[in-house]
Amino acid sequence: MKKKITSKKAVIFDFDDTLAKTRYGKELGLKLASIKIYDFLRGKGTNTGSFRDLYRKIRKTTCQIENKGIYNRNIWWFFIIKELFKISPPKNFLEELTEIYWNAVKKKSELYKDAISTLVYLKNKKYILGMVTDTDGVKELKSERIKKLNLKKWFNFIVVAGEDVRQTKPDKAPFLLITRKLNLKPHQCIFVGNNIYVDVLGAKKAGMATVLVKRDNCQAKIKPDQVIKTLVELKKIVL
Ligand SMILES: [Mg+2]
Repeated sequence: MKKKITSKKAVIFDFDDTLAKTRYGKELGLKLASIKIYDFLRGKGTNTGSFRDLYRKIRKTTCQIENKGIYNRNIWWFFIIKELFKISPPKNFLEELTEIYWNAVKKKSELYKDAISTLVYLKNKKYILGMVTDTDGVKELKSERIKKLNLKKWFNFIVVAGEDVRQTKPDKAPFLLITRKLNLKPHQCIFVGNNIYVDVLGAKKAGMATVLVKRDNCQAKIKPDQVIKTLVELKKIVL
Protein backbone atom coordinates (compact mmCIF):
# COMPACT_ATOMS: atom_id res chain seq x y z
CA MET A 1 0.00 0.00 0.00
CA LYS A 2 1.21 3.48 -0.81
CA LYS A 3 2.13 5.95 1.89
CA LYS A 4 -0.46 8.75 2.05
CA ILE A 5 0.41 12.40 1.84
CA THR A 6 -1.88 14.17 4.29
CA SER A 7 -2.81 17.62 5.57
CA LYS A 8 -1.91 19.55 2.43
CA LYS A 9 -3.96 22.36 0.97
CA ALA A 10 -2.84 22.54 -2.65
CA VAL A 11 -1.77 20.27 -5.47
CA ILE A 12 0.50 21.93 -8.00
CA PHE A 13 1.06 20.30 -11.38
CA ASP A 14 3.63 20.44 -14.11
CA PHE A 15 2.15 20.61 -17.64
CA ASP A 16 4.16 18.83 -20.35
CA ASP A 17 4.09 15.04 -20.00
CA THR A 18 2.42 15.32 -16.61
CA LEU A 19 -1.09 16.50 -17.61
CA ALA A 20 -0.55 16.75 -21.36
CA LYS A 21 1.00 14.12 -23.55
CA THR A 22 3.40 16.21 -25.62
CA ARG A 23 6.31 13.85 -26.09
CA TYR A 24 5.06 12.56 -29.44
CA GLY A 25 4.38 16.05 -30.76
CA LYS A 26 7.86 17.11 -29.77
CA GLU A 27 9.34 14.09 -31.50
CA LEU A 28 7.37 14.81 -34.65
CA GLY A 29 8.32 18.51 -34.49
CA LEU A 30 11.96 17.62 -34.17
CA LYS A 31 11.75 15.23 -37.09
CA LEU A 32 10.06 17.77 -39.36
CA ALA A 33 12.58 20.45 -38.38
CA SER A 34 15.40 17.96 -38.98
CA ILE A 35 14.14 17.28 -42.51
CA LYS A 36 14.28 21.03 -43.19
CA ILE A 37 17.78 21.26 -41.71
CA TYR A 38 18.88 18.28 -43.83
CA ASP A 39 17.60 19.97 -47.02
CA PHE A 40 19.18 23.27 -45.99
CA LEU A 41 22.58 21.71 -45.41
CA ARG A 42 22.46 19.62 -48.59
CA GLY A 43 21.54 22.78 -50.48
CA LYS A 44 24.77 24.27 -49.18
CA GLY A 45 26.73 21.25 -50.37
CA THR A 46 27.40 20.05 -46.82
CA ASN A 47 28.14 16.40 -46.20
CA THR A 48 25.54 15.52 -43.57
CA GLY A 49 25.68 11.74 -43.87
CA SER A 50 22.31 9.98 -44.07
CA PHE A 51 19.15 11.60 -42.72
CA ARG A 52 19.06 8.99 -39.98
CA ASP A 53 22.55 9.90 -38.84
CA LEU A 54 21.75 13.58 -38.88
CA TYR A 55 18.50 13.08 -36.99
CA ARG A 56 20.26 11.02 -34.34
CA LYS A 57 22.87 13.78 -33.87
CA ILE A 58 20.18 16.45 -33.69
CA ARG A 59 18.21 14.50 -31.08
CA LYS A 60 21.27 14.05 -28.93
CA THR A 61 22.22 17.72 -29.17
CA THR A 62 18.70 18.97 -28.39
CA CYS A 63 18.64 16.81 -25.26
CA GLN A 64 21.87 18.42 -24.08
CA ILE A 65 20.57 21.92 -24.82
CA GLU A 66 17.21 21.30 -23.12
CA ASN A 67 18.94 19.92 -20.04
CA LYS A 68 20.73 23.25 -19.76
CA GLY A 69 17.33 24.91 -19.41
CA ILE A 70 17.39 26.55 -22.86
CA TYR A 71 13.87 26.52 -24.31
CA ASN A 72 14.13 29.00 -27.16
CA ARG A 73 14.02 26.76 -30.22
CA ASN A 74 15.68 29.37 -32.43
CA ILE A 75 18.72 28.94 -30.22
CA TRP A 76 18.45 25.15 -30.51
CA TRP A 77 18.61 25.17 -34.30
CA PHE A 78 21.34 27.78 -34.41
CA PHE A 79 23.43 25.83 -31.94
CA ILE A 80 22.89 22.51 -33.76
CA ILE A 81 23.78 23.83 -37.22
CA LYS A 82 26.70 25.90 -35.95
CA GLU A 83 28.05 23.23 -33.63
CA LEU A 84 27.72 20.28 -36.00
CA PHE A 85 28.41 21.94 -39.35
CA LYS A 86 30.10 25.31 -38.64
CA ILE A 87 27.43 27.15 -40.63
CA SER A 88 25.59 30.21 -39.30
CA PRO A 89 21.98 29.82 -40.46
CA PRO A 90 19.89 32.94 -41.26
CA LYS A 91 17.39 34.13 -38.67
CA ASN A 92 14.33 33.65 -40.88
CA PHE A 93 15.30 30.00 -41.40
CA LEU A 94 15.56 29.50 -37.63
CA GLU A 95 12.12 31.05 -37.20
CA GLU A 96 10.69 28.83 -39.91
CA LEU A 97 12.04 25.74 -38.11
CA THR A 98 10.62 26.91 -34.80
CA GLU A 99 7.20 27.44 -36.35
CA ILE A 100 7.23 23.97 -37.92
CA TYR A 101 8.25 22.49 -34.59
CA TRP A 102 5.60 24.17 -32.43
CA ASN A 103 2.82 23.60 -34.97
CA ALA A 104 3.53 19.87 -34.75
CA VAL A 105 3.55 19.99 -30.94
CA LYS A 106 0.28 21.94 -30.81
CA LYS A 107 -1.39 19.63 -33.28
CA LYS A 108 -0.34 16.42 -31.56
CA SER A 109 -0.72 17.35 -27.88
CA GLU A 110 -3.59 15.94 -25.89
CA LEU A 111 -4.44 15.49 -22.24
CA TYR A 112 -3.73 12.18 -20.56
CA LYS A 113 -7.04 10.41 -20.33
CA ASP A 114 -7.09 10.50 -16.53
CA ALA A 115 -6.11 14.19 -16.29
CA ILE A 116 -9.56 15.76 -16.02
CA SER A 117 -11.06 13.09 -13.76
CA THR A 118 -8.08 13.55 -11.40
CA LEU A 119 -8.53 17.33 -11.36
CA VAL A 120 -12.27 16.88 -10.68
CA TYR A 121 -11.48 14.49 -7.84
CA LEU A 122 -9.04 16.95 -6.25
CA LYS A 123 -11.46 19.87 -6.66
CA ASN A 124 -14.17 17.86 -4.95
CA LYS A 125 -11.74 17.18 -2.13
CA LYS A 126 -11.42 20.99 -1.82
CA TYR A 127 -7.81 21.16 -2.92
CA ILE A 128 -6.51 24.39 -4.36
CA LEU A 129 -4.96 23.64 -7.76
CA GLY A 130 -1.93 25.31 -9.28
CA MET A 131 0.48 24.82 -12.13
CA VAL A 132 4.17 25.59 -12.57
CA THR A 133 5.44 25.06 -16.08
CA ASP A 134 8.53 26.28 -17.90
CA THR A 135 8.32 28.73 -20.79
CA ASP A 136 8.47 27.39 -24.36
CA GLY A 137 11.01 30.10 -25.13
CA VAL A 138 8.46 32.14 -27.08
CA LYS A 139 6.45 34.50 -24.87
CA GLU A 140 2.80 33.45 -24.37
CA LEU A 141 3.19 30.21 -26.33
CA LYS A 142 2.95 28.00 -23.25
CA SER A 143 -0.19 29.85 -22.08
CA GLU A 144 -1.66 29.36 -25.55
CA ARG A 145 -0.95 25.60 -25.40
CA ILE A 146 -2.55 25.33 -21.95
CA LYS A 147 -5.58 27.25 -23.18
CA LYS A 148 -5.90 25.07 -26.28
CA LEU A 149 -6.35 22.02 -24.06
CA ASN A 150 -8.99 23.87 -22.05
CA LEU A 151 -7.03 23.49 -18.83
CA LYS A 152 -6.91 27.04 -17.54
CA LYS A 153 -10.27 26.97 -15.80
CA TRP A 154 -9.19 24.22 -13.42
CA PHE A 155 -6.37 26.17 -11.82
CA ASN A 156 -6.39 28.89 -9.20
CA PHE A 157 -3.08 30.13 -10.56
CA ILE A 158 -0.58 29.18 -13.25
CA VAL A 159 3.07 30.23 -13.18
CA VAL A 160 5.01 30.15 -16.45
CA ALA A 161 8.61 29.99 -15.26
CA GLY A 162 10.90 32.07 -17.41
CA GLU A 163 8.07 34.54 -18.11
CA ASP A 164 6.25 35.28 -14.82
CA VAL A 165 9.55 34.93 -13.01
CA ARG A 166 12.98 35.06 -14.66
CA GLN A 167 14.19 31.68 -13.41
CA THR A 168 13.02 28.34 -14.83
CA LYS A 169 12.71 25.05 -12.96
CA PRO A 170 14.53 23.54 -11.04
CA ASP A 171 15.24 26.96 -9.52
CA LYS A 172 12.99 27.31 -6.52
CA ALA A 173 11.81 30.82 -7.53
CA PRO A 174 8.83 29.70 -9.69
CA PHE A 175 7.73 27.24 -6.99
CA LEU A 176 7.89 29.95 -4.34
CA LEU A 177 5.99 32.34 -6.60
CA ILE A 178 3.02 30.00 -6.89
CA THR A 179 2.85 29.52 -3.12
CA ARG A 180 2.75 33.30 -2.69
CA LYS A 181 0.07 33.62 -5.36
CA LEU A 182 -2.01 30.94 -3.63
CA ASN A 183 -1.39 32.47 -0.21
CA LEU A 184 0.16 29.27 1.09
CA LYS A 185 3.43 28.04 2.51
CA PRO A 186 5.46 25.51 0.48
CA HIS A 187 4.94 22.77 3.10
CA GLN A 188 1.19 23.01 2.46
CA CYS A 189 1.68 22.07 -1.20
CA ILE A 190 2.23 18.84 -3.13
CA PHE A 191 4.01 19.10 -6.45
CA VAL A 192 3.22 16.56 -9.16
CA GLY A 193 5.58 16.32 -12.13
CA ASN A 194 7.18 13.88 -14.56
CA ASN A 195 10.75 15.12 -14.45
CA ILE A 196 12.89 14.22 -11.49
CA TYR A 197 15.63 16.79 -12.19
CA VAL A 198 13.30 19.65 -12.98
CA ASP A 199 10.08 19.09 -11.04
CA VAL A 200 11.01 16.97 -8.04
CA LEU A 201 14.36 18.67 -7.41
CA GLY A 202 12.92 22.19 -7.70
CA ALA A 203 9.81 21.53 -5.61
CA LYS A 204 11.90 19.81 -2.94
CA LYS A 205 14.28 22.77 -2.77
CA ALA A 206 11.27 25.03 -2.30
CA GLY A 207 10.00 22.81 0.55
CA MET A 208 7.02 21.08 -1.10
CA ALA A 209 6.02 17.43 -0.89
CA THR A 210 6.71 15.75 -4.22
CA VAL A 211 5.06 13.13 -6.40
CA LEU A 212 6.85 11.83 -9.48
CA VAL A 213 4.66 10.64 -12.34
CA LYS A 214 7.12 8.17 -13.72
CA ARG A 215 6.60 8.03 -17.46
CA ASP A 216 10.19 7.09 -18.37
CA ASN A 217 12.92 4.81 -17.06
CA CYS A 218 15.14 7.58 -15.77
CA GLN A 219 16.96 6.55 -12.59
CA ALA A 220 18.06 9.24 -10.18
CA LYS A 221 19.41 9.72 -6.70
CA ILE A 222 16.79 12.35 -5.91
CA LYS A 223 13.89 10.76 -4.06
CA PRO A 224 10.34 12.05 -4.35
CA ASP A 225 7.88 11.40 -1.50
CA GLN A 226 5.84 9.20 -3.82
CA VAL A 227 6.12 7.68 -7.27
CA ILE A 228 3.07 6.94 -9.42
CA LYS A 229 2.72 5.73 -12.99
CA THR A 230 -0.55 7.43 -13.87
CA LEU A 231 -2.40 10.47 -12.55
CA VAL A 232 -5.35 8.44 -11.35
CA GLU A 233 -3.09 6.91 -8.68
CA LEU A 234 -3.05 10.31 -6.97
CA LYS A 235 -6.42 9.36 -5.52
CA LYS A 236 -4.73 6.67 -3.47
CA ILE A 237 -2.08 8.92 -1.95
CA VAL A 238 -3.63 12.38 -1.72
CA LEU A 239 -6.40 12.25 0.83
MG1 LIG B 1 7.07 17.87 -17.72
